[in-house]
Amino acid sequence: MAFKNGRLKCPHCRCFRVRTIEKRYYCLKCRKKFSLYSNSWLKHIKLPLEGFAALLECWLEGASVADASNHLKLSRPTVYRYYRLFRLNIVKSADFKPRNSIQVDEAYFGRFKKQANYYHGRMTYRVQDKTCVFGMICPETKQLFTRVVQAKPGATIKQIIREQVSTAITVYSDKSYYYKYLDKTHRHYAMSHDYGFEYSQYIEACWSWMKRKLFKQYHHFTRKYASEYVQELTWRFNTRKDVKNPLDYLTKLT
Ligand SMILES: [Zn+2]
Repeated sequence: MAFKNGRLKCPHCRCFRVRTIEKRYYCLKCRKKFSLYSNSWLKHIKLPLEGFAALLECWLEGASVADASNHLKLSRPTVYRYYRLFRLNIVKSADFKPRNSIQVDEAYFGRFKKQANYYHGRMTYRVQDKTCVFGMICPETKQLFTRVVQAKPGATIKQIIREQVSTAITVYSDKSYYYKYLDKTHRHYAMSHDYGFEYSQYIEACWSWMKRKLFKQYHHFTRKYASEYVQELTWRFNTRKDVKNPLDYLTKLT
């Protein structure tokens, strides 16, 4: 796979005049040495390829960091680093293409609620150290779109909706003030989740699915890496019914 059309290219000068030297490669033009993976996203890996493929399969299956490190005899920082490599190179976000209607909502991800017993039963609880994630899903195409929202959620959320969704699409939301004045551009129905259950069930199911996956694999994430993790969870949701073969992802060597 690294030999495209039977030829290996020098990553430094793109020259094809390459010779083998002690299991590595040597460019005749720029005289630099390089390895087999130098043209791909595997270029800095230090694991042997068997262990690497096993770790990739663990990640695709959603195995937790602790499980992967126990089974493959790797340290936890190593597993974290390789999981991040996979997240940055394998996860792809597609364009959002809804049909007829979408359901929108926001959720708070990140750290798990501390002092849960103390706050249990209260109407409000602290969400300062959590990350606000805005999501929308089309019930017909079953495609999820998410975005991490930092400051001023209302303005940002409305801007995202106006950019991503055409005005022919009906938008169902809850009665939060984040969605106020959305009816100026879209056909918009705001109803409480208690009464309009069928207009919010898909997006609520997504939140529950994503939070469960996050808890099982990573337990939590910090605000610094929030958008990476949310992108990964969205990708996992959208491709959850596909058959995932680790070799397919190794072939995408660009
Ligand atoms: Zn060269």
